[in-house]
Amino acid sequence: MTRPDSHLAILGAGPVGLETALYAEAVGLPFSVYERGEIGEHFNAWGHVKLFTPWGQNISPLGRAALLTARPRSVLPNDSDLMTGREFRDTYLIPLVTQSPLASRLQTKNVVLRVGRGRSRFRLLVRGPDGKERVDEADFVIDCTGSYHNPRHLGEGGIPAIGEFGVRDQIAWGLEDVLGTREKHYADRNILVVGAGMSAATSVCLLATLAAKYPGTWITWATRSSNSTPLKRPMSDPLRERDLIAARANTLATRGEGNVEFRNASPIEAIESKGKDAGFVVRFTGDAAPLEVERIIANVGYQPDDRLAHALGDNRAGYFVLGIKGGGTGFSLSSAQAQIREAFVKITGQSTDHYRKKG
Ligand SMILES: Cc1cc2nc3c(=O)[nH]c(=O)nc-3n(C[C@H](O)[C@H](O)[C@H](O)COP(=O)(O)OP(=O)(O)OC[C@H]3O[C@@H](n4cnc5c(N)ncnc54)[C@H](O)[C@@H]3O)c2cc1C
Repeated sequence: MTRPDSHLAILGAGPVGLETALYAEAVGLPFSVYERGEIGEHFNAWGHVKLFTPWGQNISPLGRAALLTARPRSVLPNDSDLMTGREFRDTYLIPLVTQSPLASRLQTKNVVLRVGRGRSRFRLLVRGPDGKERVDEADFVIDCTGSYHNPRHLGEGGIPAIGEFGVRDQIAWGLEDVLGTREKHYADRNILVVGAGMSAATSVCLLATLAAKYPGTWITWATRSSNSTPLKRPMSDPLRERDLIAARANTLATRGEGNVEFRNASPIEAIESKGKDAGFVVRFTGDAAPLEVERIIANVGYQPDDRLAHALGDNRAGYFVLGIKGGGTGFSLSSAQAQIREAFVKITGQSTDHYRKKG
């Protein structure tokens, strides 16, 4: 429970970290936000991709109120607007900070390396923008560091494929801007896309568009499962944009359109680099012939990095993990809002719902 001098450390300035900061502000609990990069760093990393959820589902009553308090005459986007990740960062995440008291509490380019517990307070090892390390202290920690920076491995059972460790930095692990800044890197190349989720589907759709412009582009799409279509489309998906991508990706895979060749039941066994920028030889589990490709895009998902608070062991009282790292579903902030409310009930011992007050 809080004392008058209690201090909260919030790790990460993604949507959930900033939402947590707004809540701390509403509760009146002093806090600092640590961000390893810039505001909405991960949204920026895949900023060319369109969000599936409309603007109104990505913001909260506290956020809307903060923007309108700062600039009462500002015209906010429509709730139904669909934006790219970068547009969302620019219209919501950045103004939330720059137009509110959060600005003085946020330290960008400050990476939290480890969290442990001293005699009475948490100890945070932080590396600042000048590369110098220091220890900051806090009474409570809310970890909203997401997972996009920590991709899963390519091999069966969640372990790296043979040779993967040695070539990890030659593989693209996120959503490449293949129609923009990365066009030259992928045009007229032989590319392997691995994965069976929305990220892989998005990469394949973008690459198929690239192949229409550069017909020498060839995409092999490998999935682990033996399903005859790469993606399962949920019945009556309420998120139309998501369903459109899933449908297009499945069509590309199964009809062999857009220079896409689909290989199901093809878990990656081993990857060998042929030299820097000279391509790879990829071997699959089973009898399939090895494949030579020039580029690999691994969209096999992301996982929480548990090393951050490893030193706490099982003694996690006062340490909360929220957002996508804490099992939040991502699509719509509502699950994160419930997590935030619950954490603050535990921290303050009060059950006041600041969303209801603003809603
Ligand atoms: C391509 C793509 C499309 C998506 N589309 C949608 C969508 O349409 N709708 C939707 O609701 N969700 C969508 N999501 C999911 C959405 O991005 C996540 O739900 C959301 O980003 C989770 O927010 P977060 O704050 O938990 O984590 P993040 O946005 O990942 O933020 C974590 C922050 O923590 C910082 N950080 C990490 N480690 C440290 C450290 N050690 N010290 C300090 N800072 C650190 C990072 O730099 C980052 O800024 C999409 C995801 C992807 C990849």
